[in-house]
Amino acid sequence: MIKYTMQRPICEQCGQRPKAINYYKNKRPYFRRKCEQCLRDHKPVKPLWVDAGYKVKRVCEACGFKPSIRTQVLVFYVDGNLKNINHKNLKTVCLNCNAELIKTGWRRGSLTPDV
Ligand SMILES: [Zn+2]
Ligand SMILES: [Zn+2]
Repeated sequence: MIKYTMQRPICEQCGQRPKAINYYKNKRPYFRRKCEQCLRDHKPVKPLWVDAGYKVKRVCEACGFKPSIRTQVLVFYVDGNLKNINHKNLKTVCLNCNAELIKTGWRRGSLTPDV
């Protein structure tokens, strides 16, 4: 069996583990959207920033918008590294700022849990 050395894309749900392989075609792997673990357990994975004790702010840290419901804001990773859960690297961002900030290299956190 040929060992495939190309880096696998990262799971869209947990943002941590590589995606599961769906099938091979012409010796090239095609991936599923999630890693094996996320496919197996259907309960949502807690984002790392929850474990880090980060609390979502009540205001968008980019524009000052005050969301009326929790799902209007997302947690962003300023340096783009989804494993860097230093609170300085985490920012609460509203959906309006979302698209703009991706261009700056900020990355959206994997999930917004119902907390
Ligand atoms: Zn996963
Ligand atoms: Zn905003």
